[in-house]
Amino acid sequence: MKLFRNALTIDVEDWYHVCGYEPGHAVPESRWRICDAVERILLLLDEYKVQATFFVLGSVAARQPDVVKRIAAGGHEVASHGWSHSLIHELTPEQFRDELARTEAVIKEQAGYLPAGFRAPQWSVSDRTPWVHDILAERGYCYDSSLSPLPFIGDRRGSRVPYRIRAAAGTLFEFPPLVTPTWFGNMPTGGGWGFRFFPPALIEFSVRQLNASGQPAVLYLHPRDVDPDGPRLRLPPLKRFAAYGTRNDALPRVRRLLDRFRFTTLKELAADVLLHSDPVV
Ligand SMILES: [Zn+2]
Repeated sequence: MKLFRNALTIDVEDWYHVCGYEPGHAVPESRWRICDAVERILLLLDEYKVQATFFVLGSVAARQPDVVKRIAAGGHEVASHGWSHSLIHELTPEQFRDELARTEAVIKEQAGYLPAGFRAPQWSVSDRTPWVHDILAERGYCYDSSLSPLPFIGDRRGSRVPYRIRAAAGTLFEFPPLVTPTWFGNMPTGGGWGFRFFPPALIEFSVRQLNASGQPAVLYLHPRDVDPDGPRLRLPPLKRFAAYGTRNDALPRVRRLLDRFRFTTLKELAADVLLHSDPVV
């Protein structure tokens, strides 16, 4: 029986959006893969009548307007992944505001509404960017999903469950991605290489554990995860594994989850699951 609601999220970016390794020149249109890959995900969601949250990169939406229109037409939530896929700690607050504004304008034009949520590229919100939540709240965002309790790229001591953040201009929900605690630290079972690598039974166990404690699990996917024949950037071995490795069955893995658990958008979770929770930060 599927009683509890979780969130499935998709970072809408192309195969070459790998932080720190993105090509410095424009990738020709003939090499874009985003439309077909997003379509594969949408067809699966349509089959299960599940709505998901799509964090759209503004620069991708601007040159591929049909992608956002198709996502919005399916009743999914369109949220913001920023404009340029820059790490947030490499931006100034003014540049961050500008990225948000440009992406908001494109989403408003294509989906018909302003995004309620934001996700930073590569979980790059941390104590190095203390202004992020203030700026998001000031611009009317309802939630953020940019802080990961992972070693190395996140804050390994960070919360594994959603919580509220008090910002100067209001309160935001923060939705960390699903991780699985182990003796070696939290493992990224909720998305990326971890979602493609760890046994599906472990991922499902981790979702079930969170749900049993009354908390939703947030999973994430990239279009390149479901594009096994897509091109690859030339990357160092570990980075290559993280971006592209072991990716052949990502879509069947999502199907297994859809068979076993209920999913909705982050905006819905923010509205109903956490409405009565106490502020943590
Ligand atoms: Zn990204």
